[in-house]
Amino acid sequence: MKVTVVKRATPAAIAVLRQATALFPKRNKASDGLLPSAAHIKASPNSDHNTGLAVDLTHDPKHGIDCEFLFEKLKEDKRVDYLIHRGKIWSRQRSQEGNRKYTGSNPHNKHLHISIRSAYANDTSNWFGWIEKKPTIAGKAKAKLSRKPKKKNSPSPKEA
Ligand SMILES: [Zn+2]
Repeated sequence: MKVTVVKRATPAAIAVLRQATALFPKRNKASDGLLPSAAHIKASPNSDHNTGLAVDLTHDPKHGIDCEFLFEKLKEDKRVDYLIHRGKIWSRQRSQEGNRKYTGSNPHNKHLHISIRSAYANDTSNWFGWIEKKPTIAGKAKAKLSRKPKKKNSPSPKEA
């Protein structure tokens, strides 16, 4: 079987690692990955890494990247197709079944695997939007002042 592997990961996949590093510059990157190694291609010829639509993020809770937490949190991100971590898999297609047991040869103990839906390949919006820490890459990210609109507290006169 011939396996085609793209030369570059998709912008959405690259953004995961870049944004994580911008937020947590000291994070461990030992298990980070975008494109597959030759051994990886052999082992999993159908991997989403071959299409650039997957990213591995190293589990490093001491430095802000807690993959246990991210596994749950990233289910809310519409770009996510499926997630694998510590013997668990969750996929959008089978989300009604919740977390399922992952039986692949690599249990993914040291990283979180994120597969991205192809429709969002170029979507580089913030993957970690709920984290309130400012990215430290100078000039790259402007701190957003959150100005909450004040709600008018005047109930309509018709309301009982
Ligand atoms: Zn992976």
